[in-house]
Order: sequence, then structure tokens, then C-alpha cells
Amino acid sequence: MGALTLTQVTKAFGTTQVIKGVDLQVEDGEFCVFVGPSGCGKSTLLRMIAGLEDVSSGDVAIDGVRINDLAPAKREIAMVFQSYALYPHLTVRDNMGLALKQAGTPRAQILQATEKAAEMLALAHLLERRPAELSGGQRQRVAIGRAIVRRPKLFLFDEPLSNLDAALRVKTRIEIATLHRELGATMIYVTHDQVEAMTLADKIVVLRGGVVEQVGRPMDIYNDPDNTFVAGFIGSPQ
Ligand code: ADP
Ligand code: MG
Repeated sequence: MGALTLTQVTKAFGTTQVIKGVDLQVEDGEFCVFVGPSGCGKSTLLRMIAGLEDVSSGDVAIDGVRINDLAPAKREIAMVFQSYALYPHLTVRDNMGLALKQAGTPRAQILQATEKAAEMLALAHLLERRPAELSGGQRQRVAIGRAIVRRPKLFLFDEPLSNLDAALRVKTRIEIATLHRELGATMIYVTHDQVEAMTLADKIVVLRGGVVEQVGRPMDIYNDPDNTFVAGFIGSPQ
């Protein structure tokens, strides 16, 4: 449960068409990576899937059910941003539990969900701290924990590691791969980093100017890119 289907999705800001008819199928449990140059529409696509932005035309569906008109909170989709967007005045525990609290989830259930997520992310010893007392990597894990406690069908990651240093990026990337295995959830992950794309993805989607250039398994795209543009993103150095 958590297959995503985009059918002829477009997005215009004013008269500027930024997404130009995207068709995409992401299977239940799949790890799908979006790559493409800055400004090609990766974040806009994620925001439309999450419901943070209306689609101009086309359909967004989860498990075959059209969700275009569903409020973000009702979508069972959680998004993790590059800027962690944690509440500075709340503890790690309260940051992670906030969405459940707002949804009226019983306190005991919030406690249990929060502690389980904290354990998965090695945050159990930091639950009473506030964001300012954490490192960048720890903050990013709290942002991921906040997504996990909601038990979404679909996780959306928008360049989640780009604010971390190289060593921490590798460590967190491995944690995200482990999380994907443990949760078995569908994930869509935006990155500029070819290594991240190659190691995490079941399926890579290469975007350019609001259009899907190529979709495929990492090694298939790597070995057989459709054109030089794709090869520039996913390919051996020429
Ligand atoms: P990416 O995430 O791939 O870098 P974005 O989805 O952020 O690209 O942006 C795609 C295009 O849409 C860019 O040209 C950007 O300037 C434009 N855009 C994004 N959001 C808005 C907005 N709210 N209003 C107007 N233009 C926007
Ligand atoms: Mg972006």
C-alpha cells in the first residue's frame, strides 16, 4: 500500500509552465530517486505529491485513488526537507510527536511511536533536548523521525543531506537505506549526488525542464543512457 501514479501532471506558475506533462509510476515499497539540474521542477513535483502545491492539470493517485483534492494532512504522505524546519522551542520528543498530537492521537500512542522512531534513529538519548543542542546530522534525523511517527504510505525526501558534510552524508545515506528496508515504505528521494542516486535507488527518474528524460534501474541508465544529458547525470565520466 503506497503505490504512486502521476498522470499527465502539469504545473504553471502564472504563464510559466514548469512541469510539462509528467507520467510516472512508483511501485509500493520502491525507492525512487529524482535527479536533474537545479530548477527542473523536482521540488515542485514533490510539493504537488504532498499537496503543498495544487496541480494545474493531471492526476495524482495513491493506490489507484485520486488524491488531487485531498488536504496534505489527509494524504498519508510525509515530506523531509533540506532545511529541517524543527520548532526551536520544542524538545526532540515534542517535535517528533507534534503531527500526531495535532491529529488527536492518544498520548500513550504518541509516546510509543516517538520512542520507537527515536530508537530506530539512535535518538533515544536526545529526546529531551532542543534543536539548538543538536548537531546538523542529529537534527536531520529528528526531521526523519517526525516523518516516521506518522506512519505514512509514502516518504518524500527533498535533498535531505545537502546541508551535511561529506562524512555525515555517507552515514545518513546508509541510515536511510536501512530505514527503507525496515519500514518497507515507498520513498521518493531528490538528490544532486550521483552516488546517492546509484546506491539508494530501485528506480531513477531523470528530469529536465519539467519533463521526464529517462526512467530506469540505476545500472540500466548508467550503462545505457538515452542521451548525453542523461549520461551527464548518471554515467561514467567521459
Ligand atoms: P528544483 O527543485 O528542481 O530545483 P523547483 O521545483 O524548485 O526546481 O523549481 C522549478 C521551476 O519553478 C523553477 O524555474 C522555479 O523558479 C519555479 N518556481 C518554483 N516555485 C515557484 C513559485 N512558487 N512561483 C513561481 N515560480 C516558481
Ligand atoms: Mg529543489
